[in-house]
Amino acid sequence: MPKPNLIAIDGPAASGKSTLGKRLAEHLGYLYLDTGVMYRAITWMALKRGVSVEDEKAVTQLAQNTRIDIQPPSVTDGRDADIIADGEDITWEIRKPEVEANVSLVSSYAGVRRALSEQQRRIGSKGRIVMVGRDIGTVVLPNADLKIYLEASVEERAKRRYREKLSRGEQTSYESVLEGVINRDEIDSSRALAPLKPAEDAHILNTNNLTADQVFEYVMSWINMEPSNTTHQEAPQSDREPSNKKPSFQVSLFNRAMRVILRPIFRGLFHILAKVRISGTENIPKHGAYLTAINHISIFEPPFILAFWPKPLEAAGASEVWERKGQDILVRLYGAIPVHRGRYDRKLLEAMVSVLQSGRPLLIAPEGGRSHQPGLRRAFPGAAYVVEKTNVPVVPVGIIGSTDDFFSRAIRGERPVLEMRIGKPFHLPPIEGNGEERRLARQRNADMIMMHIAQLLPQEYRGAYADTAAKLERSSSEDAEASEKISENL
Ligand code: C5P
Repeated sequence: MPKPNLIAIDGPAASGKSTLGKRLAEHLGYLYLDTGVMYRAITWMALKRGVSVEDEKAVTQLAQNTRIDIQPPSVTDGRDADIIADGEDITWEIRKPEVEANVSLVSSYAGVRRALSEQQRRIGSKGRIVMVGRDIGTVVLPNADLKIYLEASVEERAKRRYREKLSRGEQTSYESVLEGVINRDEIDSSRALAPLKPAEDAHILNTNNLTADQVFEYVMSWINMEPSNTTHQEAPQSDREPSNKKPSFQVSLFNRAMRVILRPIFRGLFHILAKVRISGTENIPKHGAYLTAINHISIFEPPFILAFWPKPLEAAGASEVWERKGQDILVRLYGAIPVHRGRYDRKLLEAMVSVLQSGRPLLIAPEGGRSHQPGLRRAFPGAAYVVEKTNVPVVPVGIIGSTDDFFSRAIRGERPVLEMRIGKPFHLPPIEGNGEERRLARQRNADMIMMHIAQLLPQEYRGAYADTAAKLERSSSEDAEASEKISENL
């Protein structure tokens, strides 16, 4: 992706939008606009001037006639910007509980939204901006070059907001913050006008278990996978030409022995814990290398697939797993390949390429990490990259039932269903062109892999690929051709 000119970030309260937005703006040298402060400013003005927040007409007039300025901070008291309404500095007033309690009502008024959206569009029309809110990708900047939708559980968000308030010295309780967040979510998502929801072409990221740094890394990887634009890697000499080096990834004897021991143990465990269902094994290629691509909700899919796949698969896993006590034992015993998701890591990509070049099948979750929710997330281009370099077929696999609560249900004796649906292998179209064209084609191929996975999954598991998978199903034309067209529109 070329450096996006307009970046829209939406999501519910305390999902991490402003932390990400500020960081992105700083990194790219762009303007940062938090549109929430504008709705807050109108709410504060209404409360201060004794205008009833229930009085839609009066509040709308206020929105039409109040001049809101957002300027660089003039005081160093922890503020990001000066928020000035009709000449008065209301930076801290708009954070007060009475504003929070009423802002969602005020922002549900059509006239208020119209007045503020117009101002936001005007500011956005100059470009080079990161704009944060609830309806930026859907209404204010529908043509944004990059749309991000952050989400996190309500408890996690309330915890973040609670800590934030304590750090500002505010007196409050977790329960009241939680209640406030729930109320605002309810009003913001159910209002008729510009409700809170992801744009169809948004990248959706669940930030529950991610640090601010990790969220930033994810987004930077969407902006550009190329090393020249990331801060983590030194630039390679050529634009990702296949290396002439010999395949470098070897599995140790110890790991091989462990696989022989672990696979039947895990198969037994899964049979005890769950009702295991596997279909489509006839689709697994008998010989040679291929890429097995799975959806990744929780920690359960990799051991499930590795235990039941008819032959050992090499596996790539998010490098954080190596740092998690307990989980790291399994990846070490199995001998998986640690991948720094969201970063371009030439050595590791080459390790994966070398697995395939030496004729062995490889397991990848193109989403890059666990989603903690059934819906698919937008894929990283890494999976498409290793296929591009090796031209192996892709075997899509959809796993159902492996949600975060799988284990607790299993140990309660519920024996939940754990299902693996193996799809027909397919080839990705070759990647042509240079630079930007290549990058886009790679992302299209990654999306194509996800669409094939989505087709194996029920509707509620399809997430970011729900519409496109359905279109692909309806399409009777050649699979590859149809999916290529559809992924162009993603
Ligand atoms: O993001 P923040 O929590 O500061 O937003 C305050 C409120 O402003 C939100 O709960 C929502 O009701 C409203 N808002 C909106 N549209 C936006 C930004 C904020 O409706 N683009």
